[in-house]
Amino acid sequence: MHISQLFGQGRTVFSCEVFPPKATSPVDTIYRTLDGLKDIRPDFISVTFGAGGSQVNQTTREIAGIIQNQYHIPAMAHLTCVAAGRAEVDEMLAGLAEDGVENVLALRGDINPNVPPKTDFAHASDLVAYIREKGGFGISAACYPEGHVESPDLVSDIRHLKEKVDAGAQHLVSQLFFDNEDFFRFLERCRIAGISVPIEAGIMPVLSKSSIQRMVSLCGASMPRKLTRILARYGDHPDALREAGIAYAIDQISDLIAGGVDGIHLYTMNDPNVARRIAESIAAIRAV
Ligand code: FAD
Repeated sequence: MHISQLFGQGRTVFSCEVFPPKATSPVDTIYRTLDGLKDIRPDFISVTFGAGGSQVNQTTREIAGIIQNQYHIPAMAHLTCVAAGRAEVDEMLAGLAEDGVENVLALRGDINPNVPPKTDFAHASDLVAYIREKGGFGISAACYPEGHVESPDLVSDIRHLKEKVDAGAQHLVSQLFFDNEDFFRFLERCRIAGISVPIEAGIMPVLSKSSIQRMVSLCGASMPRKLTRILARYGDHPDALREAGIAYAIDQISDLIAGGVDGIHLYTMNDPNVARRIAESIAAIRAV
């Protein structure tokens, strides 16, 4: 099933993202995460793709296959064209098709200063067009409610997003954000620009001060005062911050669903307990 077919069924789609274990850990450590996630029955689970070369990215394929075939949950494999040239893309797509994985999140990827980028596809839209031409896959792409960090302004970012959708992206997943007003404004601009595919809101629960500061400096997400107060008060108290972070995420999601969002994509950070707490809290809200 292609991910885009999950939308418009009368309930808000809920999906989760996991990342492959570090190269130094056995791939089996992902089973602990997936065992926890299977009970909350996300509509699909996506698996990130690293900049660490073909061996690490074989793991993306392997984990997507496990989700699809052993857990019977639709899987979406991320694929970046800074880390994969045409030959690697062909190999990845063939492997995914062999494993019955039907969905790909087509990305450019972040440029790693220590790894020369592959140059067969300049932008995610080129990768989207290539995958569409090959056929058979549901194609998703990334979007940025506050604008992509490299983008000079939101207008050109949305113009390029429209090109990505016109090239064949059938569903979009957003970068994390903490202020719902940013997302609702972005959604309105997308609809005005003629982008009509389902757009899922990417939600990352704030669980640790250092990881959230790192993420914010990487992606440029703005921090509402409500969240800076939480970090100031609980930042050095991990248990308290975890509780406040989960409560903040649930509050954010309830408001997004009330505002009619198509779906919620939870960045789980491979922590199934946090995902379960959030999923259970929003179960009744999603069904309305
Ligand atoms: P693009 O859509 O190519 O956009 C990148 C920049 O180029 C933007 O500023 C855009 O406005 C601009 N642009 C696009 N087209 C053109 C054009 N024709 N001419 C000029 N400028 C143009 N990274 C990973 O490495 N692995 C992952 O698994 C991963 N998963 C992600 C999942 C989600 C949901 C999101 C939101 C991001 C993810 N990322 C991942 C990060 C992503 O790879 C980076 O944000 C990257 O910098 C941009 O990727 P993109 O696919 O959005 O690129």
